Amino acid sequence: MKLLRDRILKDGKCYPGGILKVDKFINHQMDPNLMKACAVELIRRFASTEVNKILTIEASGIAPAIMMGFLLDLPVVFAKKKKPSTMDDMLSTRVFSFTKQREYHVVISKEYLTPKDKVIFIDDFLAYGNAAKGIIDLCHQSGAEIVGMGFIIEKAFQRGREVIEKQGIRVESLAIVDSLDNCQIKLRNE
Ligand code: 5GP
Repeated sequence: MKLLRDRILKDGKCYPGGILKVDKFINHQMDPNLMKACAVELIRRFASTEVNKILTIEASGIAPAIMMGFLLDLPVVFAKKKKPSTMDDMLSTRVFSFTKQREYHVVISKEYLTPKDKVIFIDDFLAYGNAAKGIIDLCHQSGAEIVGMGFIIEKAFQRGREVIEKQGIRVESLAIVDSLDNCQIKLRNE
């Protein structure tokens, strides 16, 4: 998606350890017009699928997910990284965060992820696929079907796509970073 690629090259910043900082337009300060354009493109790519719920993980997946849910008139559920004291009947899994270098629990109420659900999972980044693996586990536990997974930015060199596709799940990403070596952002042209 050219608009997104141009923005990453203009405002994205590279950090050591293969981290791309996009907090000027995606995950701190947010550009709603860009977010809408991303949601429209993801909807176009998943147009042939049957879906009744958008699933994401807090915090930075929520903005693109809610934009998609709004445009498709579908409910949006986000997996929580802390168990609320008011949640009793829940599904739980563990996810390793490489940006924070620690493992955390992720929970979803059983009420909001059920065998009736056909979900698209949305997140800002696909890196090693750890968050996606956790979501796949939660969907397996609940009996929900995963129709596909959509990401704003995929860091191809961290190979998360393979983890997801191995499970037979379709992956769409709007910008693919082939390398951040020497703190240079190399985007795939497509
Ligand atoms: P994964 O679980 O695929 O290894 O990593 C994806 C998660 O880690 C995303 O939810 C995202 O918030 C965070 N993440 C991974 N790589 C980056 C990055 O380069 N920059 C930022 N800002 N977040 C990242």
